[in-house]
Amino acid sequence: MTPISPVYASIATPVSKLRWTPPKTVSKPADIDFSKDMPWVRDSVLTTALSEINDLTFSQEDIKYIENMGMQLPFKSGKECVDFIEKENIRLYFAKPFEKGVHAQYSFDRNAIMINKKYQNTKDFAVMLAIGEAILHEAGHAKDKDGQSSVQEELNFLGMNAVAHRAFIKKYGKVFSNSTAPIVADGVSIYERLFFDPDPDKKRLIARMKEKYGDLPSGDRLHPPSKIARAVLQ
Ligand SMILES: [Zn+2]
Repeated sequence: MTPISPVYASIATPVSKLRWTPPKTVSKPADIDFSKDMPWVRDSVLTTALSEINDLTFSQEDIKYIENMGMQLPFKSGKECVDFIEKENIRLYFAKPFEKGVHAQYSFDRNAIMINKKYQNTKDFAVMLAIGEAILHEAGHAKDKDGQSSVQEELNFLGMNAVAHRAFIKKYGKVFSNSTAPIVADGVSIYERLFFDPDPDKKRLIARMKEKYGDLPSGDRLHPPSKIARAVLQ
């Protein structure tokens, strides 16, 4: 065999080094080790989603805007939600939903948040953030311990989702704009636009709520209906 020439060797070295460099993904803060306190969370997508919501601060201005619309946020920060999940031993897992098109569900009987199986092993960072938002929402349902929902209850949690979504955009820029995954495009992105719609009557939000949640009562004991919730059922 021809011995390798010094010139080739000097070119070859960085190439072979390059080959062993792990592929770079979107830069994000180091994941938090949830396995100590939440041993059931081993999945790396769920760990990333939890880590991202744990670090998420909501804008006070955005919270006020949503509260002025008549909504109450179940958690005032992502960390408050993650602490609640840990304290209540809420399980998180991927599964096929009971109904087609559902992104996530909280099961009162199992005390578990289920995320649609089609997002398991996703490599899309926007989807991981959207899973984080879905966890925030479903943990809200876990908080009232009644296994029931109402238009006002959904409005409260979707309003929190809109605030969280804006916080992610503030942190990561246009991270969601290229994602076509339904959990992003037909989920978290829509509610941010609908809640922060400049229309003071929020007609588009009311129409969407009617379409998705029109079969629920306007409010319940823990979530008395706001003007918007009442308008959904008119
Ligand atoms: Zn809900």
